[in-house]
Amino acid sequence: MPSASRARLLEGGPIAEEIRRAVAEDVATFTARRGRPPGLRVVIVGRDAPSAVYLERILRGCAKVGIDAGFVELQGEATEASVTAAVQALNDDPAVDGVIVQMPLPPTIRLRSIIDAIDPDKDIDGIHPLNAGLLRLGYDGFLPATAHAAIEILRRSGIEIAGRDAVVIGRSAVVGMPAAFMLVKEDATVTVCHSRTTDLAAHVARADIVVVAAGRPGLVTGAMLKPGAVVVDVGINVVDGHIVGDVDFVSAVEVASAITPVPGGVGPLTNAILLTHLIRAAERQAPFHQSSAAPSATPAQPVPSGGDR
Ligand code: NAP
Repeated sequence: MPSASRARLLEGGPIAEEIRRAVAEDVATFTARRGRPPGLRVVIVGRDAPSAVYLERILRGCAKVGIDAGFVELQGEATEASVTAAVQALNDDPAVDGVIVQMPLPPTIRLRSIIDAIDPDKDIDGIHPLNAGLLRLGYDGFLPATAHAAIEILRRSGIEIAGRDAVVIGRSAVVGMPAAFMLVKEDATVTVCHSRTTDLAAHVARADIVVVAAGRPGLVTGAMLKPGAVVVDVGINVVDGHIVGDVDFVSAVEVASAITPVPGGVGPLTNAILLTHLIRAAERQAPFHQSSAAPSATPAQPVPSGGDR
């Protein structure tokens, strides 16, 4: 990786470690009170290579902090009904607090029917329409973990968001739009750009904060940035066998005041954030847990300054 001569590197690893330590404490407390650890299940349909890597990473991360994590694997030719039934069985299992359905699903399965099937209280990656709606309205629900990680890295690095001009590149339901809503909630003025934006460079040039989630390597270069801008690169692309983001790091690091590296920025934080969502789900579903104290690992949800929107 090139050396950062100007911009401060916003590294996700140390923040993720801090979060994991707090999660481990919350898991121990929960397990002592409930007589069982928090439970996470990943539904995986057809195991391609990236899914297997992701799954292994989640299971290993959970094992380290004492979470009971496992997976339900369906063959690639599974029907919509069989995937829905697997999700519903997990919804009904009292030892399971959080459910993730590994994406992408085979093209024969309608995404909407699967996300509708997840119990919103167990939807720790915030994909159910109820949680998406809660975010849109400014209420507390489960946030999509990657988008949450992109904003959390700013908050935990002490980057001021309120009053700043932010540009989000990408408008997907899982990353771009939730990141934009979170930034609005944090009182940024937000522009969302996408593949039909006519002059991306003009928008980026005005931004104090740029969040890039397009899946296009080299989309944002240093020449496009306002000097001193803060850059969060969510992109994950493989170029010549190397993982790179959507931002041309070499040029951007000379212009930005802070930038997330890829790998090592948002990525490592995403799984740690997901674990905090699991703790929150477990606490909320624990029927006889009377404590009103928030679990120590849970990142504070962004709070609107003007009441619920
Ligand atoms: P996606 O569903 O493919 O959405 C990509 C978005 O980028 C779309 O809104 C698209 O616009 C926009 N876009 C594409 N080309 C563009 C261009 N030339 N100019 C401006 N906008 C453009 O992808 P996603 O799921 O949101 O993921 C985005 C990136 O984040 C990917 O690289 C993915 O691998 C990565 N990711 C990272 C993590 C992590 O943990 N760090 C997790 C998930 C995803 P349209 O809407 O007009 O098509």
